[in-house]
Amino acid sequence: MGSSEFDITAALAAINAPGTRGGLTTPIDKLGRLKGLSLKDHEKYVSLTMEFRCNLKCVHCMIEGTMDHLKPTSDETFARICQDQRETGRWEGLVLTGSEITLRRDLTELAQQAKSAGFKHIRIQTHGMHLGRTDYADRLVEAGIDEYFVSVAGSDRESHDCITQVNGAWDKMMRGMEHLDQYGHVKLITNSVVTTESYMLLPDMVANLDHLKQLIQMEFWNFFPMAEIDEKGLAARHSDILPYLQEAILACRAGGRYVEVKNFPECLLAELGDALVNAQPTLVIDPAFWTEFDRNEFHQCPHRMDCASTECLGLTSAYIARYGDERELLNPLPQ
Ligand code: SF4
Repeated sequence: MGSSEFDITAALAAINAPGTRGGLTTPIDKLGRLKGLSLKDHEKYVSLTMEFRCNLKCVHCMIEGTMDHLKPTSDETFARICQDQRETGRWEGLVLTGSEITLRRDLTELAQQAKSAGFKHIRIQTHGMHLGRTDYADRLVEAGIDEYFVSVAGSDRESHDCITQVNGAWDKMMRGMEHLDQYGHVKLITNSVVTTESYMLLPDMVANLDHLKQLIQMEFWNFFPMAEIDEKGLAARHSDILPYLQEAILACRAGGRYVEVKNFPECLLAELGDALVNAQPTLVIDPAFWTEFDRNEFHQCPHRMDCASTECLGLTSAYIARYGDERELLNPLPQ
């Protein structure tokens, strides 16, 4: 099924689980501008949140207040999505995520079931620490998991362990990624949350992961609190982030890697605005998550009505409460 034929309404009906949301921002037929610059595969993936425990304590964790009451996607929903995949081949890939999916003891079984249902790619979103047990990483690959979406919080041992608040997290994650890097068919993708603690680390992050041959895309997710106020003071000022982000984007592209930036004003990125990709795979999650998420109140920008961007999410309430609406800095894209 080509991406232009993808029918999100039919997909949501087949999933039939409350809380499921499609994640595309720009309509698929207008996504051509991203060709060659990003994996641009979000509409082809469905993401299931199947584990809400985690054993890191990342300072920027967006769901720390909700983890204890969110319920993982049920085995029945998982089975229904697999059955639908068998019948329709609707999706190209499945993402198994949560808080930390590698805490599920049956992860290899889930991957095998998904693979036999016809998913071409099985991706896990992980902090990567357990991949440092290389025999475990091998078992995941054998079970069919061929894409590893790893959360890299810092640019080295000191900064990563400080942000994740667990000593040894960087070493284990790097050992795992370097081990997986030896598999020619495996893809590595990273995501890094951009906060007041990490924005200045972005160029070093790119440099320190440069040796990973299978690392095909790096993603930089600008932090937003799931609340009206940034109580932890982690949202960095856009103008402070910008020079580091620009350097990181250019370094990724110079190294032949795709890059995606999320939750950052497109106009501030200027000629690098094509790096902004706010799309996400279709997400199956406990509906209670959205009650918290929607407190962000995205799409606040004083120029919204005059701006042609289809991708930009504007500003959040928490950002405006901290820094103002920065109307003089923002430049609406011509209609
Ligand atoms: S003017 Fe506002 S909506 Fe347009 S790109 Fe800038 S921040 Fe986004």
